[in-house]
Amino acid sequence: MPRQSKGGVINCDLGMSKPFDIELERLTGRPSYSQVFGGVAAGQRGTFFLETFGCQMNDHDSEKVAGLLLSRGYQQVQTPEAASLILYNTCSIREKAAQKVFSRLGEYREKQSEGKVIGVLGCVAQQEGEDIFKRAPWVSLVCGSASYRKLPEMLAQLEAGNQRVTGLDTDTDETFETEVTRRDNPWRAYLTIIEGCDKACSYCVVPFTRGPERSRASDSILREVRQLAVLGYSEVQLLGQTVNSYADPTPRRMRFSELLQAVADVQGIRRVRFTTSHPSDFTPDIVEAIERQPKICDHVHLPVQSGSTRVLRAMQRTYSREEYVEKIAMMRRANRPIAITTDIIVGFPGETESDFEETLSLLDEVRYDSLFSFKYSPRPNTPSLAMSDSISEEEKSRRLAVLQDRQREIQAAKNAELAGHTFEVLVSGKSRRENQWSGYTTSHRMINFASQERELLGTYVQVRVTGAGPNSLAGEHAV
Ligand code: SF4
Repeated sequence: MPRQSKGGVINCDLGMSKPFDIELERLTGRPSYSQVFGGVAAGQRGTFFLETFGCQMNDHDSEKVAGLLLSRGYQQVQTPEAASLILYNTCSIREKAAQKVFSRLGEYREKQSEGKVIGVLGCVAQQEGEDIFKRAPWVSLVCGSASYRKLPEMLAQLEAGNQRVTGLDTDTDETFETEVTRRDNPWRAYLTIIEGCDKACSYCVVPFTRGPERSRASDSILREVRQLAVLGYSEVQLLGQTVNSYADPTPRRMRFSELLQAVADVQGIRRVRFTTSHPSDFTPDIVEAIERQPKICDHVHLPVQSGSTRVLRAMQRTYSREEYVEKIAMMRRANRPIAITTDIIVGFPGETESDFEETLSLLDEVRYDSLFSFKYSPRPNTPSLAMSDSISEEEKSRRLAVLQDRQREIQAAKNAELAGHTFEVLVSGKSRRENQWSGYTTSHRMINFASQERELLGTYVQVRVTGAGPNSLAGEHAV
């Protein structure tokens, strides 16, 4: 799921995330990584700066890369200037994000002569491959997202003085697991349970950049969740491009809904989230698990992409509008309200005004709690590249604005209905303004609230909603 913007209803800017929060120890009081790693002194092998573009999957990959580097004796620093190793973990789903990587690489042209090693990881690395060396000869490491398991080997080659190393396999049947993951959120832990994708949406680079679907063994997932609970994490978010297509490779053959339940059963875990779900694999047992187990969060991100069956067929989305709406109806019948969010692309090749109207009518029908919307942009190595992208940028922008306006109205009305309700909130932010805090409800609504308490970060509190805008709620601590 793309990142939600702070200001707008939706965020189509796949911007750069902040460098890792290297103040984890200060926030949580947990032992420092150099303590955890015992014998390996921090910085013994050098320092690294790691910056991430893209989605939560990329963020979490970066957490694992950081864990790997820390375990090898590197120290994480906040600026490229202070680093001996500069890494970009990149996203190529939108053209804009890919361009940003190259412009950022341009800024570091001179750095190699200062003895710094510069590397590109992730989807852009997979997509561009060795061409990156031609476009930016000062880059030393290119490693695609399907080849992260080779990173330790590649790092060893760099440490041995190799000038150029690459990892570009896509035929791996392994998932990317590390002994230590450097997590940047002290309360919510991300956990990739399935990598790659076997669907073939015509606009999407993921099957090319991340390779075929590989699910992680359920016993390995549960072992890590238990470790996370011991470390004090109370919220776990299971990740995958199509998280609900999970297929346990062990003899247990745990279904996705059973895995959700098993994660929720781990002592110390209070919230279980999951994203992103694919509509075709969204089955009744997932809704039943949400109904049965309050620890499984009442929020489902179910990307539809278009409200027109004709466009869905051209996108190769494997479901019709009617089939999608039936999945929504299944959730609406649940005995626990479930928040539903989605992704939409406007201006896909051949999308007519009447197709677009169907998308708007779907918004009215479903009344999403939030959505992420994008203008179509052709990407290399995708089938839709061969389709005529005849809708002008101006028209795409118009459709995007109309869609966002409609959604803003829906969100404002839905949020206003929540006034007077009380929700459990995991407090994750403290405002500069005195006595002001923020956090998320189980349905992933952001709420800003007032409390006289001196310290609330990382705790669960009850908050009564006193006001609402389209993007967030306002409230007060209900003691
Ligand atoms: S389901 Fe479609 S959009 Fe999602 S990652 Fe797979 S190919 Fe891409």
